[in-house]
Amino acid sequence: MAEQPVFETDFSNKESLEAFWMPYTSNRYFKENPIIVTGAEGCQFTTQDGKTVYDAFSGLWCTGMGHGRSEIVEAVSKGIQRLDYSPAFQVGNDIAFEVANKVKKLTPDGLDHVFFTNSGSEAADTAMKMARAYWRLKGQASKTRFIGRSMGYHGVNWGGVSVGGIAANRKLYGQGVDSIHLPHTLLAENRFSKGLPPHKGVELANELETMLMMHDPSNVAAVIMEPFSGSAGVILPPVGYLERIREICSKHNVLLIFDEVITGFGRTGKDFGADAFGVTPDIMTMAKGITNGCVPMGAVVSKGDIYNTFMENGGPDYMVEMPHGYTYSSHPVACAAALAALDIFEKEKMSEKVEALSPYFEEQVHKLKGLKHVVDIRNFGLAAAIEIEAFGGKEPAKRPFEIFRRCWEMGVFVRCGGNTIQVAPLFIASKSEIDHVFNVLSDAILATE
Ligand code: PLP
Repeated sequence: MAEQPVFETDFSNKESLEAFWMPYTSNRYFKENPIIVTGAEGCQFTTQDGKTVYDAFSGLWCTGMGHGRSEIVEAVSKGIQRLDYSPAFQVGNDIAFEVANKVKKLTPDGLDHVFFTNSGSEAADTAMKMARAYWRLKGQASKTRFIGRSMGYHGVNWGGVSVGGIAANRKLYGQGVDSIHLPHTLLAENRFSKGLPPHKGVELANELETMLMMHDPSNVAAVIMEPFSGSAGVILPPVGYLERIREICSKHNVLLIFDEVITGFGRTGKDFGADAFGVTPDIMTMAKGITNGCVPMGAVVSKGDIYNTFMENGGPDYMVEMPHGYTYSSHPVACAAALAALDIFEKEKMSEKVEALSPYFEEQVHKLKGLKHVVDIRNFGLAAAIEIEAFGGKEPAKRPFEIFRRCWEMGVFVRCGGNTIQVAPLFIASKSEIDHVFNVLSDAILATE
């Protein structure tokens, strides 16, 4: 157990918590009832009041291989001693090339060029800029519009918010980037499906063609979607959906971007959602699992044609081909974490671990069917969402929030998101731990009015 530092903050005093304006948090409730984490190891958090809490959400979909992995801790600590920072522009650090080659090897064939960011949000916006610039360089500058999906989530920067389809994330911020949205893929007849829902995949995907006929492909840069929507509550593509989306994009010369920030690095039981669903996009974004969550990092991986288009149209060779990048793109410390994390990912065959545990996880989560308030259960790989009926028919977030808080009190961390409870265990979870998670969750649901 790492040594605990001593802080001056009085965690029992609401006033001393006000300085930190917390992200995606109900700050008013939190500061009256704080949850303060002080350590993590394996699948457990420890808290400021001396409890241990089982992590059934891999942090925030990111620490699948276990908290506090000594190999990563050591690589980061050695890495920062060797090279704390080197400029990201016009100078490359050695370890960045190593990580890029590793990512290239892991991603599906054809996705070969890796642009580093610091988060999934930056990756989404980078991919969108890449798509627009690509068409402009190809002489098709009118292709600027994006097609996202209702209930999609692509982070919180302008591009991501614009193509994202969760109303609460958009409504305060006004006009964004030119985007339209496909319908989501939740259907009543697919409720309680185990794994991929069987109904209407092709029909739902055909909406894309209708939309392209209305807006014309000459105005559309790219379609962006998560292979399955994570943050909105594990909304899965019905059978045949992604294949048909791919076909339509290819037919009409529109790029397909997969946001694999959640589905990347093992969560589906394959290395990427693209592998799990057998569909390869033109651009893929990733973050979270690339460093097992312990140092911020994201990446955008593009096909050769896109990279080459920038190279061929870049002007004299001393000129920058894509004027875009972050001070911390390919940060050497993040790269050290990524290299160690990807090494564990491969050596310990994490995707296979997930694939092997998924049927048990599926069986256990579906045992919640029939419990009061539970109106749908969706799962794939080691990801599941339990949809909870809105309180009084009009307050969808109230019960999930209460259930999350109750679970925490009972020593288990699950996430509340909109009208769902989301569960995403670590890849190293045991069957008995999964049993424990669903026992606690079931008690918490039953205790909720
Ligand atoms: N894209 C998807 C699919 C995500 O799930 C997330 C975060 O959960 C993001 C993008 C944003 O990533 P970040 O929070 O690292 O900016």
